[in-house]
Amino acid sequence: MLVSQILKSKKDDGVVSIPPGTTIGRAAEVLSARRIGALVVSTDGKGLLGIISERDVVRELGRRGAACLGDAVETIMTAKVTTCSLEDRADGVLTRMTAGRFRHVPVMEMGQMVGLISIGDVVKARLDELSMEKDALEGMIKGF
Ligand code: AMP
Repeated sequence: MLVSQILKSKKDDGVVSIPPGTTIGRAAEVLSARRIGALVVSTDGKGLLGIISERDVVRELGRRGAACLGDAVETIMTAKVTTCSLEDRADGVLTRMTAGRFRHVPVMEMGQMVGLISIGDVVKARLDELSMEKDALEGMIKGF
């Protein structure tokens, strides 16, 4: 399965981004309101400056307490982001996620962000694929 197929199967394929300068407190509000685990830091929603996930927020809260909430997201975001392309195979992306211990990967096309896939998206797509394979095999055995 390709990354492009996973993006197509997602109900909402837009990427939720926040501009640099956004506070960590505001990022936590957006993560909570949108029920997502990571935000891309981007000025225009297309270029990629970094990624901030709930883990970054929780780690900083644990370290410094509420004092961190007024700081800008750049202070804790990951700037060296692993990305993938629409033509990448999903299992390869899953391997990179597992090896790098992160659960979100922005999808880039000609230097612009066109989507984001999470480990949950990849697992769901794989389970759907397995279920279709099972139905097809059952159909063959039962002669449908
Ligand atoms: P996550 O598992 O996605 O919540 O992220 C765990 C850690 O990896 C956090 O420090 C994130 O900032 C970082 N991270 C998330 N996604 C990526 C990515 N695609 N490339 C590099 N680091 C990432």
